[in-house]
Amino acid sequence: MGRAGPRCLSPVPWHPKDPMAALQPVRGTHDLLPDAARAHRAVEQRAFDVARRFGFGEIVTPIFEFTEVFKRTLGDTSDIVTKEMYTFEDRGGESLTLRPEGTAAIVRAFISGGLAQQVPVKAFYRGPMFRYERPQKGRQRQFHQVGIEILGVEGPAADVEVITCGYHILEALGLGGTVTVEVNTLGDLESRAVYREALVAYLKGRQGELSEDSLARLERNPMRILDSKDEGDRAVVADAPILADHLNDTSRDFFARVRDGLSALNIPVEISPRLVRGLDYYTHTAFEFTTTALGAQGTVLAGGRYDGLVKQMGGPPTPGVGWAAGVERLSMLMTDPPPAPRPIAMVPAGAEADALALPLTDRLRRAGFAVDLGYSGNMGKRMKRANKVNARAAVILGDEELAAGEATVRDLDSGEQTRVRLNAVERALDRFR
Ligand code: ATP
Ligand code: MG
Repeated sequence: MGRAGPRCLSPVPWHPKDPMAALQPVRGTHDLLPDAARAHRAVEQRAFDVARRFGFGEIVTPIFEFTEVFKRTLGDTSDIVTKEMYTFEDRGGESLTLRPEGTAAIVRAFISGGLAQQVPVKAFYRGPMFRYERPQKGRQRQFHQVGIEILGVEGPAADVEVITCGYHILEALGLGGTVTVEVNTLGDLESRAVYREALVAYLKGRQGELSEDSLARLERNPMRILDSKDEGDRAVVADAPILADHLNDTSRDFFARVRDGLSALNIPVEISPRLVRGLDYYTHTAFEFTTTALGAQGTVLAGGRYDGLVKQMGGPPTPGVGWAAGVERLSMLMTDPPPAPRPIAMVPAGAEADALALPLTDRLRRAGFAVDLGYSGNMGKRMKRANKVNARAAVILGDEELAAGEATVRDLDSGEQTRVRLNAVERALDRFR
């Protein structure tokens, strides 16, 4: 490196259009500064703690996959595949995609990791997802999800369990009372085929009112039109025939058992006959947890059953059910974000005390205390800093204390203070842990 010297410094600007723009985060992305990061981690952690109680174990997949992993599973007509994927060619000429969602990646890992031999598999995941969308409140281009999947369970017990787990997580975030759980069934393949015909016949009658996107879907994936956000489409959809009227006995029975299971566990659900999911691989149960607190972006958690997906990806036929939740949306809503932990402030006065403060701070940190040691300044300045970091207590090392081989431990909330031997500081601080 040294030998090549300055020739290595390439003249390429930071940013292709405007060098100064490189100092801003990319549109639709956000930094998580300390307070936001703490809330964000708390959402993930509480979600995982609850999921663990339901028997889920974490799976971590790479944040990019071969493009095929998403293209083949999400369907050619989905919003994600047609408009939202971050797809690029790497230096080896492979087409890769930053993951827009977690399920396809988990299923890929399930197949390539040989987990199909060990069903049922209960997976939890968390991490960033990437979608090229129009950024707005609660909608970013890099956002984060937590999610769970159960692979290998055919019966409705798994649907009940994932929905219940989601509800417990929202309760753990203080949102139990504010959330509506909407459920619907998309039926099995047979029911959907029958419904599809009825739907297409209806939509053809009102073709003139449909958006361009929806017209394109009319033949290839008419059910997707039910999920459109276009206002004209929505007006047409409002009078469309509904799936519930086209269910066969198997589908009807499956849905009844899901509803019974949820009601036995006191999960308040609303049946929402027009709820469909944006992705091609769903069957039977579909659900969304919504809140009114976020304005337009009211869905915080969404999922459903995807019995066809594993086979479609080349694995052994394996039923699946799961959901994903948006961490940004949940962290905006959580009622009790964890406060910043309060440290102990070390407050030495003078050069001699400074020298002593360093090893004492080190000792306390090893003993498990968070200790804030200002880098310079007199006693007054350091006490101000203790205040600023919201320290719970201060260890004061003044001339008088030093002469006696002691320190003053001050409770910064009550102002109470005591003098203790230097070797007993840990014990005196114990109650501030
Ligand atoms: P929408 O219809 O709002 O676009 P979606 O169907 O694309 O939602 P899912 O793919 O089901 O959403 O994702 C599950 C959850 O992830 C959403 O309910 C939401 O909380 C969150 N989420 C999805 N896209 C974004 C985004 N761009 N920014 C922030 N959170 C998102
Ligand atoms: Mg979307």
